[in-house]
Amino acid sequence: MYTSVVGFPRVGKLRELKFTTEQYFRGEISARELEDCARQIRLSQWKQMQEQGVTFIPSNDFSFYDGVLDAAVLFHLIPEEYENLHLSPLDTYFAMARGYQGANGDVRALPMKKWFNTNYHYIVPELTDHTQIRLSGTKPFDEYLEAREAGIETKPVIPGIFTLLSLLRISGRRDREEVGAELACAYRQLLSRFDSLGARWIQFDEPALVRDLTEEDVRLFCRLYDSILPSKGNVRVLLQTYFGDIRDVYPRIVSLSFDGIGLDLVEGKESLRLLAQYGFPADKLLFAGVINGKNIWRNNYAKTLSLLDQLRAAGHQTVLGASCSLLHVPYTLENETRLAPEISAHFAFAAEKLQELRELQTLAESGERDSSPAYRANQALFTQDRGALDPAVARRTQAIREEDFTRIPAFAGREQLQKEEFRLPLFPTTTIGSFPQTSDVKANRAAYRKGTITRQEYETFNRGKIAGCIALQEEIGLDVLVHGEYERNDMVEYFGENLKGYLFTEKAWVQSYGTRCVKPPIIWGDISREKPITVDWAVYAQSLTGKPVKGMLTGPVTILNWSFPREDLSLQECAFQIALAIRDEVLDLEQNGIRIIQIDEAALREKLPLRRSDWHSDYLDWAIRAFRLVHSGVRPETQIHTHMCYSEFTDIIAEIDDMDADVITFEASRSDLQILDTLKETHFRTEVGPGVYDIHSPRVPSVEEIVLALRKMADKVDPHKLWVNPDCGLKTRGTPETTESLTHMVQAAALFRKEY
Ligand code: GLN
Ligand code: ZN
Repeated sequence: MYTSVVGFPRVGKLRELKFTTEQYFRGEISARELEDCARQIRLSQWKQMQEQGVTFIPSNDFSFYDGVLDAAVLFHLIPEEYENLHLSPLDTYFAMARGYQGANGDVRALPMKKWFNTNYHYIVPELTDHTQIRLSGTKPFDEYLEAREAGIETKPVIPGIFTLLSLLRISGRRDREEVGAELACAYRQLLSRFDSLGARWIQFDEPALVRDLTEEDVRLFCRLYDSILPSKGNVRVLLQTYFGDIRDVYPRIVSLSFDGIGLDLVEGKESLRLLAQYGFPADKLLFAGVINGKNIWRNNYAKTLSLLDQLRAAGHQTVLGASCSLLHVPYTLENETRLAPEISAHFAFAAEKLQELRELQTLAESGERDSSPAYRANQALFTQDRGALDPAVARRTQAIREEDFTRIPAFAGREQLQKEEFRLPLFPTTTIGSFPQTSDVKANRAAYRKGTITRQEYETFNRGKIAGCIALQEEIGLDVLVHGEYERNDMVEYFGENLKGYLFTEKAWVQSYGTRCVKPPIIWGDISREKPITVDWAVYAQSLTGKPVKGMLTGPVTILNWSFPREDLSLQECAFQIALAIRDEVLDLEQNGIRIIQIDEAALREKLPLRRSDWHSDYLDWAIRAFRLVHSGVRPETQIHTHMCYSEFTDIIAEIDDMDADVITFEASRSDLQILDTLKETHFRTEVGPGVYDIHSPRVPSVEEIVLALRKMADKVDPHKLWVNPDCGLKTRGTPETTESLTHMVQAAALFRKEY
């Protein structure tokens, strides 16, 4: 039985690529040094997969920033303003990803969006009237040849044409049909080129197929591939899908001339039904995604093997693999020195998943499973008691009553009370919570973790930072202040570390976007809060100023979505456990004089099922209730804020309003302000702070630019409901640019207030 890897992480085992890329951004090393680092990472990973006997090893799954951006550059989807900077190809690429401000010009970054239902982000390619689509890059060929030179035959991975076409933004006159035809031409050239290089397989990733498709979409898909596939020559083409099942297109796909089809048998609820109902062509390989590529629990061999038996019994030529790219899990357990062996035995990161593939391959081929030590060890993991359950937690979730989901009085009554309570100016200014995590802040935290400084030294330092942060915000003239979140490495991991039931890792990083990685904690058991978490910091910050300081918490849905969840408990149950823990924290903050509490639901949208028919039943019904459970116990005057990253919630706008927060801030500056129309049309009642500038780039916005944004906003949103804030937390930014940007923001708000 063959094995295949859809894609592998690429930031380096210890995030070497991240650090090297950031050195390059700072001008400390040359492009050649950066490329050397990348080459080493690629080589060592190919070797690793070769050693594990992987049959289909991916190439071109590597990226300096993002694979969709790579595809954009490959097909010359480079908007003019970036070409006009006249930078090197690498720097043009980075300018598209991050914006550019320097001697050659001043341009913004392209928008960034979440990659389907993951916490990975892709860059949205943009096509203007000037764009001339053609095969203009060489990256996939170079990397394929690089591997071959090292003696490793790979299958190059390319975003599929249908997915690329559905993700890119067309701002010119061409329609999707025309763009598709032009792209198909470039894809044909790509295939021919791989054919002439002698490549054996190529993988087209088409996750867009797991969303709801119309008949028109399906026809477009078939047309595109009918036009591309004749150019494949001797190259065999794998259509790789993931993140769900492809029910809308499956019956048609089996008759196209693909040589392999990759199906997700983990998240694809209907994949098996499709196979049973429509069969699978005998001349194609079935790439079966049976190992969960998104979670870190060990695969249950008994279940997987019986699934594989079933596929073989049906006569399918099966290739064993993970459900999606391993990009979404950390590299290896090797560096986790703090997890007890009996605990880490339950986990498989990317490297361990390669071992699982190998073991499953052996087991699938051998007749005597029960006597195999690997098999027996695996089964023991699923029969033993992990010691993770807490009956008190279960009792508490069972005791939740319907009224625990409802805050009293209703929104309009609270809004009035709060206007009187806070007496804020029109267009109040605030930030999203974190201030720059400068190296001294990180060093302080690291020293405390290592035990080289005492708790008191650690706290004294942070208090100094908080005092500085409050002073800075007062000087800038912001209206609602924050303490700066210096104690937090990450908005989810921090809470994970302070809640019972969580495990955390040391080096288990997962790429979020570009050089940014997150380290999702692991939900090991039932969750509860043992003592207050954030109260001391918030109270201290509030003691330094007469202006309101927001208490800062992360909401249950985000904590859950950015953790590796249990596989033995429903997500809803888990969300309610977390909600009760955070509810305790909310009430403690209020009890201690904090009058505004922000509960971030940055990731609420992220796990929205990709198919609309599943939205409510599988997710929204419990997600919104979990959020309401957190804040329903506060007094009417206490103002509840929430923050969401990305403004992609036009389609769930009613549900967002139904979270029943008092104020919501969200990202709006990197996407068009279309969300404002929706707010207006739907009579959105929650007060709103659409971000007025982009914090994902070091660029400093001008006062005029912000006034312009505000004008657009006030045009659509009731001015009495409008807040002014950046679009996300400031922790990844430097101090000088932050001070300057916020100063411009406050000046813009003041100007606009006068204008009004
Ligand atoms: N309060 C968090 C911060 O400011 C929110 C971060 C986020 O939305 N990702 O960092
Ligand atoms: Zn955010």
